Amino acid sequence: MEQLAIFGGKPVRETAIGYGRQFIDNADIQAVVDVLKSPWLTCGPQIPALEQKLCEITGAKYAVAVSNGTAALHLAAMAANIGPGDEVIVSPITFAASANCVLYCGGTPVFADIDPETYNIDPASIRSKITDKTKAMVIVDYTGQAADYDEIEKIAREYNLILIEDAAHAIGTKHNGRGVGSYADMTTFSFHPVKTVTAGEGGAITTNDEKIYRQLLRLRAHGITRNQDEMANESHGPWYNEQVELGYNYRLTDIQAALASSQLDKLPAFVARRKEIVAKYDEAFADIPELIVQKEIAASDTARHLYILNLHPEKAKCTRRQMYDALYAENVCTQVHYLPVYWHSHYEKLGYQKGLCPNAESLYEHELSLPLFYAMTDEDVESVIAAVKKVLDFYR
Ligand SMILES: *Cc1c(COP(=O)(O)O)cnc(C)c1O
Repeated sequence: MEQLAIFGGKPVRETAIGYGRQFIDNADIQAVVDVLKSPWLTCGPQIPALEQKLCEITGAKYAVAVSNGTAALHLAAMAANIGPGDEVIVSPITFAASANCVLYCGGTPVFADIDPETYNIDPASIRSKITDKTKAMVIVDYTGQAADYDEIEKIAREYNLILIEDAAHAIGTKHNGRGVGSYADMTTFSFHPVKTVTAGEGGAITTNDEKIYRQLLRLRAHGITRNQDEMANESHGPWYNEQVELGYNYRLTDIQAALASSQLDKLPAFVARRKEIVAKYDEAFADIPELIVQKEIAASDTARHLYILNLHPEKAKCTRRQMYDALYAENVCTQVHYLPVYWHSHYEKLGYQKGLCPNAESLYEHELSLPLFYAMTDEDVESVIAAVKKVLDFYR
């Protein structure tokens, strides 16, 4: 048996590879340079151009570009009119921002457990958490796979709940042929560099509701409007604008919007390559008893953001920590997505306790995110697979 690098053996890879990395080409660079030479660094034509492109890609009627995915979630929660006394159902296996947006508005996140096979929120668990205070759901398309919207949309209709889809992982994904972003009341996106498409920092919200759209436009710019029909008072003249509610400065710059637009032109290529890599991993890991391969539902045509290496709780002979450390020494740098949100000490201080969502907690204890990004070569993929097999062989 080959000696593991962590115990002095030769690493599988000579250079380190991380779990995600952006891909920037000359078209991206030129798009940014063009904006820098233009009169508009912000509030210019790149913003509606990006929003138009997002509508075309997702199939949504309206899109609002904002400064990041967290701002998108905050504005979505505000537009859903979430406030003190309101409960909002959230998946615990997500970045904290999915739940924080409820706290920003004074509402209460209520965590529903995940399905142990797809890792997305389990509709049965959602049903068990609904009370007469439940107002909305923030549903995460974890790893990029669409959640079970056949059931979730039924629940939303049955209990009159606002459906917010956190699609930070899922740009380019389709559910039953419908683009992610085109069916929820509001869908939020992130253009952070670890995501499929980047603007450096950036985000967006899509919706089909014109009233929500207009409110989101106001909220990203202080709550100020220039439209007379949205004002309480008479206009004083062409210079006049009026703050009609409390908003924020959550604008995206034109520099970032141009980068995001240029990146979106590559989305089909990004998605296709990510699918190829996922297929290679799935094939390599399918027959290894120590590993569980994430289940894909037929309804989801997934643009995958993350690849989860999930160690079988009983059959794996090494712990997640042993796998993480051993892979790191082999020059394969992984991450963990995610600590259940309510395990963060801030949430513990709010009174959330361990044991709330057993499937989510079990996934967290056994998972790692393997390298998955557009620019990975086939050799990179093979080396990651070889490193995982080498570690499993050692502990077998
Ligand atoms: C990245 C991410 C966010 C936050 O996006 P930012 O642009 O970093 O603010 C929210 N939800 C999920 C699921 C994410 O992965």
